Amino acid sequence: MALDFEKGGGLLPAVIQDAKTGKVLMLGYMNEESLAQTRETGKVTFFSRSKNRLWVKGETSSNFLIVKEILEDCDGDTLLIKADPQGPVCHTGSDTCFDEVNKNEVEFLNHLTAIIEDRKNNPSDASYTASLFKKGTNKVAQKVGEEAVEVVIEAKDDNDDLFLNESADLLFHLMVLLSHKGFSLDDVVKILKSRHQTS
Ligand code: AMP
Ligand code: ZN
Ligand code: ZN
Ligand code: ZN
Repeated sequence: MALDFEKGGGLLPAVIQDAKTGKVLMLGYMNEESLAQTRETGKVTFFSRSKNRLWVKGETSSNFLIVKEILEDCDGDTLLIKADPQGPVCHTGSDTCFDEVNKNEVEFLNHLTAIIEDRKNNPSDASYTASLFKKGTNKVAQKVGEEAVEVVIEAKDDNDDLFLNESADLLFHLMVLLSHKGFSLDDVVKILKSRHQTS
C-alpha cells in the first residue's frame, strides 16, 4: 500500500509505541522527508507543526526514540512506529505524553521479588512471608502444591475472580519457594528463553 500523504496535507500521523512494553508513548506528524530521515537514521524524526521544520525527537533532551519497526495502517494514512525510548518521552518529564508509567503489569513482579527478599533477610512477626520462610522448604513446597490444586479446582468453574486469585496465590508461593532455595523468577525466565531460542 502506497502511503497517502495528501489526505493530511502532506502529513501523516505517527503513533509511537514502546517496542517492549507496548505502551503508546506519543503521537507526532511526519512528512515524506521526516519519514525518510527516520528510516535512514533509525531515530524518530517528525515534522513539527509548531516549529515548522524537521524535528528529531530528543534533539535537545537526548531522549531519542530508537526505531525498531515501522508499520503502515490498512489504508496508508497512519504510521505505527515501535521504538525504544532513551528517556522520558514527554517534555513534562513524564514517561509518555498520556502521563502513563511506561511499564508492564508484569514488571511489578520485580518489585514483589525485592519485597520477598527483604522479608527473608529482615523477618518480622507480623509478616506472613517471613512466617513461610521460617517453616522451611518442605512446608512452602507443600503450600505451592495446595495452591496449584486450588487453581485446578477454580479452572473448572467459571468464576474468573476466584481463578485469578488462586493463580496469584500460586505464583506468590512459587516465588517464595524459589527464594527459599536461593533462586528467583529470573532463573525460570532464563530457562524459558533458552528453550525459545532452540525451538
Ligand atoms: P526534545 O525533542 O526531546 O529534545 O525536545 C525539544 C522540544 O520539543 C521540547 O522543548 C518541547 O517543546 C518539544 N517536545 C519534546 N517532547 C515532546 C512531546 N513528546 N510532545 C510534544 N512536544 C515535545
Ligand atoms: Zn487509515
Ligand atoms: Zn508530551
Ligand atoms: Zn489459594
